[in-house]
Amino acid sequence: MLKILLVFLVVFAFAQAASAQDKTVLVIHGGAGAPPRKSLTPLLEAQYHAALEQALKAGYKSLAKGNSLDAVESAIRVLEDSPLFNAGKGAVFNRDGRQELNASIMDGKTKKAGAVAGICRLKNPISAARLIMEKSEHVFMIGEGCERFCRDQGMELVSPLYFHADKAWLDLLNAEKKAKGKSSAKVSLDPAHFGTVGAVALDKDGDLAAGTSTGGITYVRPGRVGDSPIIGAGTYAENESCAVSCTGKGEFFIRFTVASDIAARMKYRGDTLKKATTDVLAGLPKLTGGTGGLIALDRQGNAAMVNNTSGMFRGTITQSGKIHVAIYE
Ligand code: ASP
Repeated sequence: MLKILLVFLVVFAFAQAASAQDKTVLVIHGGAGAPPRKSLTPLLEAQYHAALEQALKAGYKSLAKGNSLDAVESAIRVLEDSPLFNAGKGAVFNRDGRQELNASIMDGKTKKAGAVAGICRLKNPISAARLIMEKSEHVFMIGEGCERFCRDQGMELVSPLYFHADKAWLDLLNAEKKAKGKSSAKVSLDPAHFGTVGAVALDKDGDLAAGTSTGGITYVRPGRVGDSPIIGAGTYAENESCAVSCTGKGEFFIRFTVASDIAARMKYRGDTLKKATTDVLAGLPKLTGGTGGLIALDRQGNAAMVNNTSGMFRGTITQSGKIHVAIYE
């Protein structure tokens, strides 16, 4: 009897130790603009869960073959290809009824970064951002010049119509209706239209990477750029501290340099990932519009997912392949 108990205790201790070491290697989000729980049908909720899982699996597969940048890029491509999220196919429309896509990616090891904004003919903006990082001498390219560069590097151009999704179009019609009669300067943009996607990853060499991709916010002015393609605001990665991807009202994330502030607090003040992410989000003036959320990962495989909205589409996968996805709580 004693022997059996001993064996059981040893097995239990091993299992505990293994799970303690099962660090998180990839975290993703699909925006902090999840609708209130009761308005999300079970079918739609299941579709969101399935898409998040698919993105996590794609990223995990890339981590096994490649590095954290590969994982970030492939997870985000899956979310960009899904019409459920506000990035790539499914991106929201601006006041002109057009989609302007923004994305950025950063390598925590080298601090190299790439970003794109105001594009509408590159199927996967996150891959365009990576191309800018790896093949140009620049960090940030916009509009037609960016599309031409990517095409010249062999990237296929698609028709802007490819990005159309009925849900995003309906959101625009609703926003237009609400704005009717108000002077254009007074139109307040509805947080329910947030839906950016992002990923942060940690590879076997201990290198971090982060990426973010978005269609922006429904009914914004043409030419408006949010935080998602801005390194230090919507995206940041450095091996010394952490990798971060944000979602929310971009103007606030730019003004408060949210992503790099989290990294700086860890680097210079020794804050934990949890403290830095919670404090920085709490510091946003929520009452005047500083709403959103973010995901972050450090080199020890600690993950943080925080938001001050009704919900955030999000998920994690650990070294051993354990998946967790959630929208609320
Ligand atoms: N941060 C994005 C922007 O302001 C929007 C979002 O996260 O949904 O463009």
